[in-house]
Amino acid sequence: MSLAEFSLIERIRTRTRARADVVLGIGDDAALLQPRAGEQLVVTADTLNSGVHFPAETPPYDIGWKTLAVNLSDLASMGARPAWCVLALSLPDADPEWVDAFADGFFALADAHDIVLIGGDTTRGPLSLSVTAMGQVAPGTALRRDGARVGDDVWVSGTLGDAAVALRAWQGGTLDVRRTSDDAQVDFLRQRLARPTPRVALGCALAGVAHAAVDISDGLLADLGHICERSGVGAELDPERLPVSPAARARVGQSHAREAALRGGDDYELCFTAAPAQRTAIDALATRLALPLTRIGEIVPGHAVSTGSDATGPRGYEHFTEL
Ligand code: ADP
Ligand code: MG
Repeated sequence: MSLAEFSLIERIRTRTRARADVVLGIGDDAALLQPRAGEQLVVTADTLNSGVHFPAETPPYDIGWKTLAVNLSDLASMGARPAWCVLALSLPDADPEWVDAFADGFFALADAHDIVLIGGDTTRGPLSLSVTAMGQVAPGTALRRDGARVGDDVWVSGTLGDAAVALRAWQGGTLDVRRTSDDAQVDFLRQRLARPTPRVALGCALAGVAHAAVDISDGLLADLGHICERSGVGAELDPERLPVSPAARARVGQSHAREAALRGGDDYELCFTAAPAQRTAIDALATRLALPLTRIGEIVPGHAVSTGSDATGPRGYEHFTEL
């Protein structure tokens, strides 16, 4: 380990918080944890590569935030309470300012969710950030992709398509990912792309309530498709009910906003299925969390996701790629 590497790790280590179940954190060859007896461990990993998973010019604060956010989102979609994570960093150079700003974003989110960084690895190479996150869940309550049942409602949290609209705007040169904008709607879209909000509290509250869940990282159609495939069911969506934000609608119009909601990735909202008997409870949950939860369709016999009577999808939804 070089001196530069050591001092970078020190910059990160000093930012970590204590947790009662961390017996030994950063500094030894491996960490020692004391998971709560009787709980199941939930483990996930996700890597972000510069220029592939985020624009290379994204500020380090946002990269730190998003690196953890995408992993917290995977824990949320399983209904797990976050607990610990490890961070593998590949950095082109040992820039302490960059690492400090990255840590600001990473730990802002980590501290908010009481997830503790317990180790990792630091190497020189193209900019790449990889997190393994761990959480806990009561046995039998994890939200899996294979639990959807015919007759279930299909729900989504928040609004969909914002990150895709933001990415298009950035590619078209009308949105700057490097800084906040004076235009509130542009800034909302930028935030949705650069600093997604993992729906951790929602995931935990749905554990044992929802039948199946997935986080929307690749687009609603693709991710709900995973639930259908794993559960051996189909889904029928009503595109009119897709929750799109005023900002997305103002930017690209209603039909393109819906297209983005169906196909756009990187939103990190949750899509879940639940019995109709849960409607009142889920509406109450939306109020408690101050987070819109929208019923967008139902689980039907079959094996694919359809968007209504026209199986190919209403005309107009297909043109988002031409924006
Ligand atoms: P080793 O060579 O034994 O793998 P390292 O020198 O890579 O150990 O790391 C020293 C300590 O610093 C270990 O506890 C490791 O988990 C931690 N560490 C290294 N890089 C990071 C990082 N990017 N984030 C958090 N902890 C890290
Ligand atoms: Mg090492």
